[in-house]
Parts: sequence; structure tokens; C-alpha cells
Amino acid sequence: MSEQDGTSFDRLLAQIEERTAASRQHGPVGTPLNSPENQPDLISRIARRTKELIAEKAAKSPSPPEQGARHPGPLVAGIGREIALGLYAETVNQEDTLFSDDGVLPGRLQELRLHLHGVITSDEALALNDVLYRRRRWEDMLAWLREPSVSWEKHFVREAIRAEEADRLLNEYLRGQDEKWANGTLPSPLLDWGWSPEQIAEFERTNLEDAKTRYLERAKPCPGCGTPAESLEWFHYVSPPSCWRTVFAGWKTRCQVCSREVDYFQTAIGRGRRPEIPAPTDEQISRAEEDQAACLEAYDREGSDGLERELLKRYPDSSKLRLRSAAPIA
Ligand SMILES: [Zn+2]
Repeated sequence: MSEQDGTSFDRLLAQIEERTAASRQHGPVGTPLNSPENQPDLISRIARRTKELIAEKAAKSPSPPEQGARHPGPLVAGIGREIALGLYAETVNQEDTLFSDDGVLPGRLQELRLHLHGVITSDEALALNDVLYRRRRWEDMLAWLREPSVSWEKHFVREAIRAEEADRLLNEYLRGQDEKWANGTLPSPLLDWGWSPEQIAEFERTNLEDAKTRYLERAKPCPGCGTPAESLEWFHYVSPPSCWRTVFAGWKTRCQVCSREVDYFQTAIGRGRRPEIPAPTDEQISRAEEDQAACLEAYDREGSDGLERELLKRYPDSSKLRLRSAAPIA
């Protein structure tokens, strides 16, 4: 236990006692949970006992300086979980701190209760302070608490690398899909809806007839050879799978003599959803593990600069925006 931590703990204890005194005068302040932990006298008692336990532990094995001391905020390593939750509840909705709806707060405290250690670690204190002071988002903290195998700081590095990996897998998949699209061998999405190939063929034939009826009047003959519109090849067009963000669909005519497209009648345009890709192969998984480990090592060695270099080397299509997402909210 360093001198500094002792000081911040004393400050914490003073805060709690101040609040205890205030609530004796005015009744409990800002205690959204109907739990015994929120009774000021009990909090004070728990805080004292926690302090004794920390002191005993520190006497046995001196710990390295706590990281939490660098970060402003009410949470410090070594306090009990319920005290931490009490402090969290008291700190939200103040100037410069996280807004938390009274209706949402009890649920959030319960989520924290499920994931935090009985005695708050220095990393947990960092995370809670970062969220309370809006340097990080609540969603990010919860994601980290559910998968705490790396430090709070490295959680963002890991997420940035994972996003690159997900994009790479998607791009590889879409390259294959685009090839099929260009060859005309992309399976109809109607197959996923349980349609048989015969039903699909019949449906497409009927649709094509309807399209010709609707658009023939406006359709031009081939400007190269003059083939009339009704003798051109008519086909349904959907934009390639890699253009999933904005999907176009419509009817096109093509002259087979001149090998050129003549008309395009657009019937639909819309935002697409990110495609779901099939499970990665063993080869893709082992390459991903290697690349992710190398990026994390580069980060350990040289910080964000090293991470950026390694990401760009291993994920050449990488967008630098990802790296910015690893930085705290300014
Ligand atoms: Zn032609």
C-alpha cells in the first residue's frame, strides 16, 4: 500500500463520513437501491473494516504502486464492492459525470455487482472512474467486465484488432461472392427462404415478363447495331455482394451482338446489412491468432505507434479510424 493510496482512501472515508453526517440530518441522499449497503452507518462500518483488512494485507505483502492513483475519480483499488457501488451511485448525475436515469441505475448497479470482484481491483477502479467521468462508455466497460482476460487499457486494443480481423474475414468472403456474382453463379437468396429451384425459375420468368411489359416503351434499341429493345437480352440486376452498404436492383437490357449493356431500369435501392459470414476455417483462425498476438506484442513494446505499424502491416486494408477508437474519449 503506497502513501498515495492511503491518502486517497482517507479522502474516501472522509467523504463517506461527511455523507453519513448529512444523511443523519436530512435522511438518506441519493440512495436508489433499497439495500442495507446503502445505509450510511453500515457503509461507514464496512469502509473502516475494509481499510483494516487492506492495511493487514499490505503489512504482509507490499503491493506495487496502484495505477488508480493516476486517474481522478472516487473509486480506488482495495475498497469493497458494495462501497464501490454506493460511490458509483453517489457520483453519477453530478457536474462532469455520467448521466444515469434513476430508472436505469438499479439495473446497472446490479450488473456491476455480478461482475466486479468482492474487493475492487486497480483495473476495475480505473474502468469505473473512466465511465463515471465519461472518458469511456458504459457499454465498453460491461464488455470488458464480461471478458476480463486482458487489462482495461488493453481491452480497447484487443477490440480494435478484432474489428480489423472481422473486416478482413468479411472482405475475403465478399471477394469470393463477387466472383460468383460476376460468373452468374451466385445462389438466389430465395433458396434461404425455402424456395425450390423450379419455383425460383418460374418466379423469375413471370417477373421478367412483367418488367418487359412495364419498361419496353421506354427501352432503347442497341445504339451499336440497332437491334430493337424487345430482341435484346433482358435480365434482373442486383449490385455485387461487396457493395452491401447500398444495394441497387433493377432490370437491364444487353445486346449480345455488341456485348454491351443498353438500358437500366432501377426498381430498388436500399441500405443493406453487413453480411453474415460462414465460420472461419482452421487456417483463417490460426492466421488470426498469430496476427492478433503480434499486434498485442507490438503494443506492449512500443505503445500505440507500434500497434499502428503492426496493424497496417498485417491488415493492409486497415482503416486508421480503428486506432482512434482505441483512444479514450477526449
Ligand atoms: Zn448491338
